[in-house]
Amino acid sequence: MAKLEVITYGHPILREVAKPVGKVDERIHSIIRDMMDALLEEEGIGLAAPQVGISERIVLIDLSKSGQTTKMALLNPEIIFSSKDMVPYEEGCLSVPDVWGTVYRPSSVRVKAKTLTGKSILIEAEDILARVLQHEIDHLNGKLFIDYLSEEDKTKNAEKITALIEENRKKLGHVAL
Ligand SMILES: [Zn+2]
Repeated sequence: MAKLEVITYGHPILREVAKPVGKVDERIHSIIRDMMDALLEEEGIGLAAPQVGISERIVLIDLSKSGQTTKMALLNPEIIFSSKDMVPYEEGCLSVPDVWGTVYRPSSVRVKAKTLTGKSILIEAEDILARVLQHEIDHLNGKLFIDYLSEEDKTKNAEKITALIEENRKKLGHVAL
């Protein structure tokens, strides 16, 4: 089993549009098992495959850290309805460590996805589940929560963000902001 490392802001994969998952084979199962380990270790509530360097449309959700039992692995998740009302919430991201800021998002969404058994499902989500689904699906489209921050929150976090960019520049020689 491969240990997956969470990549951070500045890494180009985080800005790519991830590829749809085709056949659910052993390779996909193995990616999901490794992502589960990574999510557990990082103590997050959601993880998208691009965050571990895999540009494919796979999302894991585990709300146990926020006191709920919801756990799911979703393939090719897609938001097919968003409510009109926007609600604020203080977001963070495993790929942008130590950065926090207020993001306004629709309070509820309907998400279409496939499960590991290849079944199509519809999820009616509100509150924290709606929040995390939108955040993780953004990852599949190369979007990050810091894209939505107010100028004030951007300024507040500027030093940490610059440090992440510098770290990736050293590691990779190039970055994608
Ligand atoms: Zn994230």
